[in-house]
This record gives sequence, C-alpha cells and structure tokens, in this order.
Amino acid sequence: MPTAHPSGWAHADGALRSTRPGGPHWLREPADPNELVTHLWSQTAAKSDGVLAVGGVPVTDVVREHGSPAYVLDEADFRSRARAFRDAFGGYDVFYAGKAFLCTTVARWLAEEGLSLDVCSDGELTVAERAGFPMDRVGFHGNNKTLGELQRAVELGVGRVIVDSFVEIERLSAVATELGRTVGVMVRVTAGVEAHTHEYIATAHEDQKFGFSIASGDALEAVRRVHQAEGLDLLGLHSHIGSQIFDTSGFEVAARRVLALHATVGEEIGVEMPEMDLGGGFGIAYTTQDDPSDPAQLATEMSKIVEHECRGLGISEPRLSIEPGRAIVGPAVCTVYEVGTVKQVELDGGARRTYVSVDGGMSDNIRTALYDADYSATLASRRSDAEAVLSRVVGKHCEAGDIVVKDEFLPGDVGPGDLVAVPGTGAYCRSMASNYNHALRPPVIGVRDGKTFTVLRRETVADLLATDVGVS
Ligand SMILES: *Cc1c(COP(=O)(O)O)cnc(C)c1O
Repeated sequence: MPTAHPSGWAHADGALRSTRPGGPHWLREPADPNELVTHLWSQTAAKSDGVLAVGGVPVTDVVREHGSPAYVLDEADFRSRARAFRDAFGGYDVFYAGKAFLCTTVARWLAEEGLSLDVCSDGELTVAERAGFPMDRVGFHGNNKTLGELQRAVELGVGRVIVDSFVEIERLSAVATELGRTVGVMVRVTAGVEAHTHEYIATAHEDQKFGFSIASGDALEAVRRVHQAEGLDLLGLHSHIGSQIFDTSGFEVAARRVLALHATVGEEIGVEMPEMDLGGGFGIAYTTQDDPSDPAQLATEMSKIVEHECRGLGISEPRLSIEPGRAIVGPAVCTVYEVGTVKQVELDGGARRTYVSVDGGMSDNIRTALYDADYSATLASRRSDAEAVLSRVVGKHCEAGDIVVKDEFLPGDVGPGDLVAVPGTGAYCRSMASNYNHALRPPVIGVRDGKTFTVLRRETVADLLATDVGVS
C-alpha cells in the first residue's frame, strides 16, 4: 500500500480520467451558465435578470436583511413534498426523519400536513415537544438510547420506540413497568441489504451497528422477547436499508426478507403483528447525474412489492410506514454564500480550475468532505456574459478538503461580492453543521409569498462563548 500520493481530488480520485480534462464525466458545460437547472432547485426558485429568487424573495434581499451565508428554506416547497408523500402513500404512515433537519417550525408544518415524526435523541424529542407535535405520532430511534432518553420518551407518550438491542428491550420494559405505561415497539432488523446511490448489495451487510440480524435468528428472538415483555406492545418489524436510493430494487429484497420474518412470527410465536416499517432513504437530485423517482412512483412500486409478497406468503398486509427525510427537506433549501476570493490553478493537461472561496464551507455543509457528495451551484446575484469555467466552490476553513461544490461551471468573472447559491442543502447540512474554526452557524431563513421569516437565527459570538466558562 502506498502511504503517499500526489495530493488533490483529481489525482486521488481519477477525476481527470473523465471525458473532459478537469471535470467529471457527468458534468456538462451549460449553454448558458446563468440559467437554473430547475429540477435541482425548490419549486418557487427562479431567476430574474440573473438574480435568484426563492419564495418570491430575491436572495440579494435575504442577504441584505439577514446576512451571509444563509440557508433559505422554501416553505411552499417543503409542504408540497411532505404532502406529496402523504398523498402518494395514502394507506401508510409517513414519518419524517427529523435527523435530516428539525426545528420547531418544521415540526409544526409536518403536524399540519398530517405526517408523523422520527427522532433519535433527547434533543430532537425536545424540539418535537416544544413544537407541540402530537407525541403519539413520534417514533424514537437509535442503537444506544440512554436510560434517561427511554424514560422521557415513555413519559411523554411517544407512539413507538424502535428497539435495537436485547439489553434495550429489558431497559424499556423496566421503564414502562416502572411508569405504569405500555409502549408501542418496533423491532429494527437488518435484512442483509445495503443500498447505495446507484447499487445495492444483497449479501453480508449485517456487519453494522444497527438492528437485529434476520439471518442469525436474533431478530426472531427479539420479537419473542418484546412479545413476552411487560409494558411493551409489539407493533412490528422495522427495516431501513440506506440513503440516497434511486429505485425500489433494494427495498424489494429487504421487503421479501422482512415479510418472510413477519410471517414466521405469525407461525412460530402466534402473533399477527399489525405494522411494518420500510424505512427511508429516497434519493434526491443534487446534480444533473441524479434521477430520483417521485413519491407516486415509489408508492406504486413499493405497494406492489408488498402486496405480491404477502399474497405469496398467504398473510394479510400489515399497516406500512416509511421514513423519508432527505426527500422532503433536501430540495426545499438552498444555501446562499458571498464570494470573498477567487484563484485559478492549472491542472494536468492544461485544463484550468477556478477556486471560488465563499464565507462558509464545511461548517455549514460537511457532506462533501464526509461523503464525497456532489452539489451544484449558480451565480445568484447578477447576470454574467462571461464564458463558463470549471469551478470549485470552497469554504473559509483551515482544511484543503473544505469543499462545498467539487465541480461546477460558473461564469468566469465570478468575484468578490458576488452571491453564489447551492441547491439541495436542506438535509444533513444545518443538522450536521459545526462550529469548526469557531464559525457561527448560519441562520435558516424561511421564504414564502415574497416575505422572509427567521426559522433559526444566526449564531452570535455570545452563543459561541456561552459554554466557555473561562469568560468572566
Ligand atoms: C436516516 C434514516 C432515515 C431517513 O433517511 P433519508 O435518507 O433522509 O430519507 C429513515 N429511517 C432511519 C431509521 C434512518 O436512520
């Protein structure tokens, strides 16, 4: 194994082996870089004379009022995606995965739109409680919930706890008994399927921290224990196979295995479990290379799979639930940054790349550094007649890997003071944001019908120093 190699993406990653020097194979040079690739943006996003507006508000106004950088949340878009899932999956319960992005405003929108909510920590549970979210529509996830978290979840009356280990079954039963309550329980199983963006692997993916293995027999044993435990009401099995999935083939393999176990529970334990959860992970378009299915397509295909399997097994269909996070909030948000500096570099083969440095970075979007994620970007504050150049949008942090958008064509005259916007940043950006380099986390600014409203305010230096006990 070599321990060192030439630095940089292009060398390590083979980016230069693409059809055009310096750009990945899927990236096409746009005829007009001013134009929005509309399906990557929230539904109300549009450009007028080069200025991007969302919810009827030019982002130049958002920045004038609220500063930069800012996450801009399109309320109409969020609600319509939530509704699209709710309507398409008519007979299902739709649990929004709060870990994608959660705050009291969003929790209220979800409650109003008739969705349920998944949380996986005391903090997320507290946000739901503050928002007045109906607790019977909350699911509590996690492979290592603390005793305190289980107690609060039971006290608050969450609708279901998704158990993940034998010791947790004992703990939860003790908590429920102690409090004189009965808790709905789903058993998280690993179906041996792991889905990735463009493929799934249907074997041997039990080597992970989550869930009870079906193959080993642990899952059946867990169901038996939940069934027998005091204070626990066995609702059904739960399976989540991964994230940013574009088709239902992975779900099909998982559903077959989980429904087979569901049937076995009926035969061997003599319980017909009323429910089943197929998890989340529905993909969105971050760039032009992504082609996600819409909720209606997903619903049709998944229902067909379940119906087919249940018929084959001779069992009645359990009530189903799903857990989309990214697919609801991801496209509803874009991040607006101000450009500070610009630098050009020459790549192997004579190609050039322009580094566009913005006033945020890996502290507000860690996904590029963490998952090698792809994003898109556009010049958002003016029209430009300059030729498009291969660009990389980078942050202001002290890391060479502090990249927001690896590859995008931006007008060649992008410079200090321009605003650049990145679509698809609603999921796992603000929720994973950090104070790295003591950055202040940007605000989430809601937009609707030509007005802005603050959903999460920008952090202040006072917030930053609040935990530093050395400050007198
Ligand atoms: C993360 C997660 C989800 C949501 O995933 P998305 O990719 O945001 O749809 C759903 N269910 C479980 C159990 C998860 O861990």
